[in-house]
Amino acid sequence: MNSDLATRRLHAAAAEAAQCTRCPLYRDATQVVFGEGPVGAPLMFVGEQPGDKEDRDGRPFVGPAGRILDAALAEIGLDRGAAYVTNAVKHFKYEPRGKLRLHKQPNRGEVQACRWWLDRELALVQPKLVVALGVTAARALLDRAVVLSRLRGQSLELTGGQHLIVTVHPSAILRMRDEDERHDAFRGFVDDIRFAAKLAKAA
Ligand code: SF4
Repeated sequence: MNSDLATRRLHAAAAEAAQCTRCPLYRDATQVVFGEGPVGAPLMFVGEQPGDKEDRDGRPFVGPAGRILDAALAEIGLDRGAAYVTNAVKHFKYEPRGKLRLHKQPNRGEVQACRWWLDRELALVQPKLVVALGVTAARALLDRAVVLSRLRGQSLELTGGQHLIVTVHPSAILRMRDEDERHDAFRGFVDDIRFAAKLAKAA
């Protein structure tokens, strides 16, 4: 498929996802947050689900976790606009707490229902390498229970033939209270992204 056609199909998939009722998460979210980036992007980043800011803006990784991802990409000189960025689940799942909306982890059924859209993105973008950001994304992509620490640092393969590497979700770094620990976790995250970029280049 040529890239113009794939781009048109990707836009059509995003418009279709805006009407999705495959799981209950569409009911309370503001809007769907589909992936962003060019068809043929060598790297595809897959997070868990949109956060509060992403839900309001309708774009992936534009909140605090997105800033960590941007900082890591900047460290290795990788332009975010050249990558495809998305989430395993496209609607924000949360628990209202007063005026706040607290992140709630999507369950297995929701992740499986939303795999429909992730598969469309994978088929149309055709990345060389996929980076799973956190355990929910890794579980969605591998379709099995995973222990993140056991998979980290390995080059895995998806059923579609793409390479996969697994790393932490940037929000896990943000949640660390100890500054040294947070600094080390960020360095490890940058190393994982550098490894991914190297593998994508060689693929
Ligand atoms: S989370 Fe995914 S499967 Fe569920 S309604 Fe939203 S787009 Fe559809």
